[in-house]
Amino acid sequence: MVQLEAMSIQVLSEQLASQIAAGEVVERPFSVVKELVENAIDAGATTVNIDVRQGGRQLIQVADDGIGIPADELETAFLRHATSKLQSVAELNAIHTLGFRGEALAAIAAVSRVTVVSRAADDTAGTRLQLDGGHKTNRETVGAPQGTVIAVEDLFYNTPARLKFLKSITTEKRLIDEFVTRFALAYPDVRFRLVHDNRITFQSNGNGSLRDVLTAVYGPDTARQLLEIGDQKLETDAQSPPPIAVSGFIGPPSLHWANRSHITLFVNGRWVKDSSLTYAVIQAYHTLLPTGRYPLGIIFIGMPPEEVDVNVHPAKTEVRFRHRNAVFGAVQRAARQTLVADSPIRNVSGWTVGGAEQPSPGWGGSLDFAAFTRRDSEQGQLDLDWQPLAASGGIGAEHGDGAAPSPPTAALGGDKLPIMRVIGQVGASYIITEGPDGLFLIDQHAAHERILYEQFMAARDDGELVSQGLVAGTAVHLSPPQATLLTENLEHLAGLGFQVEPFGPNAFMIRAVPALLAKSDPALALQAVIEDLERGDAPLQGKIEAKIILRVCKTAAVKAGQTLSMPEMEAMVRQLEACHSPHTCPHGRPTLIHLSVAQLAKEFGRI
Ligand code: ADP
Ligand code: MG
Repeated sequence: MVQLEAMSIQVLSEQLASQIAAGEVVERPFSVVKELVENAIDAGATTVNIDVRQGGRQLIQVADDGIGIPADELETAFLRHATSKLQSVAELNAIHTLGFRGEALAAIAAVSRVTVVSRAADDTAGTRLQLDGGHKTNRETVGAPQGTVIAVEDLFYNTPARLKFLKSITTEKRLIDEFVTRFALAYPDVRFRLVHDNRITFQSNGNGSLRDVLTAVYGPDTARQLLEIGDQKLETDAQSPPPIAVSGFIGPPSLHWANRSHITLFVNGRWVKDSSLTYAVIQAYHTLLPTGRYPLGIIFIGMPPEEVDVNVHPAKTEVRFRHRNAVFGAVQRAARQTLVADSPIRNVSGWTVGGAEQPSPGWGGSLDFAAFTRRDSEQGQLDLDWQPLAASGGIGAEHGDGAAPSPPTAALGGDKLPIMRVIGQVGASYIITEGPDGLFLIDQHAAHERILYEQFMAARDDGELVSQGLVAGTAVHLSPPQATLLTENLEHLAGLGFQVEPFGPNAFMIRAVPALLAKSDPALALQAVIEDLERGDAPLQGKIEAKIILRVCKTAAVKAGQTLSMPEMEAMVRQLEACHSPHTCPHGRPTLIHLSVAQLAKEFGRI
C-alpha cells in the first residue's frame, strides 16, 4: 500500500474544476465538432460549414446561418451551465433540442483558444469575442451576416496530458468524417460541407432528399442498393405501448462489413450509441450474413421525448428508454420486415458462412476457409507429407482467390505454432527452424505478409492506423479508366492511410501512404493497388478494402531472395508465433512446411 500523505480537503480552483468538467464533454477533437454542429442544428441552421485542420488539433471551425447569439448574451453562452434551451426541471423530462446542459461552449473554451463571431437576427451588427483558456481576451463589434462562426484553435494547448493521449490525425479525421456524414443523413434539409486542410471531403446539398445524401456518403453504387424501411408503427402490445416510429435505410444482405460501425442510430434526431439496438439490427439479418460480418443501417427512431432520457452522460450519446423492449422490438421488426419484403430467399453464395476458422476479422472471405476444416476432418490426421519445395507454390507465384490450400494444422495440434529455434536460411527465401518435433521451413515472404496483415487489421480495429506523410509528395499519372477508378476509391484509400489528391487531368499527388509502406515506392504501391482493383468486377466495399489491405501487406513484406540476418529471422519467427492464423498467408498460401522427426526417420529408412 502506498501511504498517502495527509492533505486537507479543499475546493478545487475554478480553473481546475472547469478543466476536469471539460474532459467529460470534450474528449478529443471529434467531440468539439459534434458539440458545435449540434449547436448549429439547434439554432435552426440550414447551412453548416465545418473546417478542420490537422484533424482538429490546429483548428475546428463551424459556421452556421442559424438564429445567432444576441450580443449581450455572448459572454454568458461561454459560462458553465448556461443554456437557452432549458428553463425548468420539468422540461428536462422531455428534451426537444440536442443541447440542454449548457456545458459544451464552456468546456471547449476552457481547453482551447476560441474566437466567436455571431449576429442574432434582431441585432444590427455582429460581435467578435475571443477567449483564451476560457478567459476573455478581446471583444469588438464587427459586420457579420446572421448566424454564428466558432473557431477553436490549439485544442488542449493548456492540458498537456490530454494532448499526449490524442490519437493519430487520421483517426480523428475519420471520426469527424463519420460524424458529419451521419448528421448529414439525419438532417437532409441542412446543407453540410466538411473541409479538411482546405480540401472539401464531403458535402450534402440540403434539398431534403435522404437518397441524395446517401449517394454523397456511400457513393451511387451502394446507395442504389439500400432498402428503405417503410414507416413502421409498433402494433399494440400488452399495456398501451408508446408509439414508436422507425424509418431509414438498411443494406441488403449482400453488403456487409467487418465491424458494426456502419450501423447508425438516431433517436429523435440525436445520434446515439446503443449496443442493444445495434444488436436488434444485426439480429434482423440472422442467417442472412456470414458470421463475423455486419450490415449497414441508418435507423431513425422517433418517440415522444418523455419516453427517452438523454441526460445520462455529458457527451449525450447514451440514452435510456422507458420501454426498452418495445424499442428493441420495433427496430428489429422494422429491419426484418424490410429484408423479407425485399427478397424472401437471398443468394449469399460466394461467402463461406460460419467455418470454425475465420481467418481474421475484416478478411473479405473470398477463400473457402470451411474447406480447410472439412479436409482436415475427412482425412483425419493430415500428418503433413513431406512436400518438395516446388510443390508448395513458388515465392511470388500469384495465387488468386481460387482453391484453398491445405494448411498443416492437424499435425501441429491446433492453430498455435510451437516455439521454434532458428537454424538458418536457404535460398535467401526460406527460414529453417527446429521445433519440438522436427524441423520447419518457413516461407519468409508469406510469413511476413501474415504478420503484417494481422498487425494492420489490429491497428485498424483499434482505430490506430498510422499514415506516413511524404515530404514532397509523389505524382502519379494514370490512364483515364484508372484515374476514374482511383477517384471512386479515394475514400477507401484514405481510410487505410493513403492520402491522394487529384493533381491535373488523370494525375494525382500522393501525400501520405500507410506507415507500412514507408520504405516502398509510393507510386508503384499505388499502381499495384489500382491494378488489383481493376481485376474482377465492381467489388463490394468490404472487398475493396480487403484488396487494398492485401496489396499493402504484400508490398511491404520482405521478398524472396532477400538475405536476412539471424536477429531478423528470429524476430520474424517470434512474430509469426504470435499470429492468430500463423499457418497461412492472407492469400491462403502456407507459410510453413513441417517435417516431423518420424518423417525424417521414415525418409532415411530407419523405420
Ligand atoms: P447547450 O447547447 O447545452 O445549451 P452550449 O454550451 O453548447 O450549451 O451552448 C450554450 C448556449 O449558447 C446555447 O444554449 C445557445 O443559446 C447558444 N449557442 C451556442 N451555439 C450557438 C449557435 N451556433 N447558434 C446560436 N446559439 C448558440
Ligand atoms: Mg450545445
